[in-house]
Amino acid sequence: MKLPKPKLPLYQQIIIAVIAGILYGFFLPGFTGWVAWMGTVFLRLLKMVAVPLVFFLIASSIAQAGKTRSLNVLGLKAALFYCGTTLAAILTGIGLVTLLKPGRGVDLSAAAELSESVLAAERKSLSQILIEIVPDNPAGAFMRQEMLAIVFMAILIGAVLARMRGGKGDLLIQFFDAGSELLMKITELVIQAAPLGVFGLISAQIGDIEGGAGQLLRLGGSLGIYTVTVVSGLAFHMLVTLSVFLLLFRLRPIAHLRKMFLTLVTAFSTATSNATIPVTLELLEKEEGVSKETASFIIPLGATVNMNGTSLYECVVVLFLAQAHGVEMNFVQMVTIVLTALLSAIGTAGIPMASLVMITVILGAVGLPLDGLGLVLIVDRFLDMLRTVVNVYGDTCCAVCIAKTDGEKLAIDRGAK
Ligand code: ASP
Repeated sequence: MKLPKPKLPLYQQIIIAVIAGILYGFFLPGFTGWVAWMGTVFLRLLKMVAVPLVFFLIASSIAQAGKTRSLNVLGLKAALFYCGTTLAAILTGIGLVTLLKPGRGVDLSAAAELSESVLAAERKSLSQILIEIVPDNPAGAFMRQEMLAIVFMAILIGAVLARMRGGKGDLLIQFFDAGSELLMKITELVIQAAPLGVFGLISAQIGDIEGGAGQLLRLGGSLGIYTVTVVSGLAFHMLVTLSVFLLLFRLRPIAHLRKMFLTLVTAFSTATSNATIPVTLELLEKEEGVSKETASFIIPLGATVNMNGTSLYECVVVLFLAQAHGVEMNFVQMVTIVLTALLSAIGTAGIPMASLVMITVILGAVGLPLDGLGLVLIVDRFLDMLRTVVNVYGDTCCAVCIAKTDGEKLAIDRGAK
């Protein structure tokens, strides 16, 4: 189905939607209910597409790629890139906490009550989370939208399909291919509604700040340096570290940032990596020329296991709380934090506030008490939006760098016009 082309390019429409959303939320906070539904519907549409899209796309692209190229090489490149960028993010976080010392002199007593809500949430050990990558009930995994388990099933199906010879194998590959094409077409339609959706989401977010402002001021004073630490860490990683990675692969960081604008705004306004998957795939393929094979493997996998912003955030929170408790971390504890943060990114779901559960795992691993965690809740929502942007941007950088190593022609190539 062809819709008439709007006059303004999409990213300009999104900029207008963001500005309009900020103004609306700021000046008419009591009326955000009138427009918030647009954001909710947009988010629901994205989530509706994300799970089947990931399943069909991974299965079909792995089945097809498996016939023509080595998946092990693609997987190895992705793992190296994920680990390299995540480690850089973690070290940035550690460096900044050591430099700015946000936890010194912070009073944790006020946080006890708030912490209870975090502690009441279901907590799992890291090994449990890793074990649950293998679903015991496929339908249950779909119903609970467990992305990691869905990615696992799709990879398995794709890999086995690539080895199936004869008519039945081809028929199934065609089925998955046709399904993923259908879902990408639906995504194209959903993206047309993005400006309205973004407007609804942003105005609701801005309007909501009003209510929380009192609490924020009461308890949040001591969180100023902490917030600056997280924000500057995320900004440094996104704008400096990841740009260096792109430049190393002779790609243009600013052009990439601009082309990914819609996906970053979606990540910011939803705080959900999973919901951005359809948008990211569409932009990488259409705007930058990344092949379907590479994008559909790297992006869903990255949205689930590669979380640069989240790893950085988790390290900062743990070290912040250690400082607030007056605990000096020894070398073994520091290495434990780095390793658990690296691994826990795999287990963190691409949904709002998922890191908090993982932080309890890291705190447990280094023997720190869990109370005090409630304090970071006060600014968590805002920081969640920012770290989701960095998570998603990290995945897109990985996809374009890998596409470049495969000799794909990209619009952001420094050699391209
Ligand atoms: N909201 C983040 C995401 O979806 C996860 C987190 O850090 O809580 O990527």
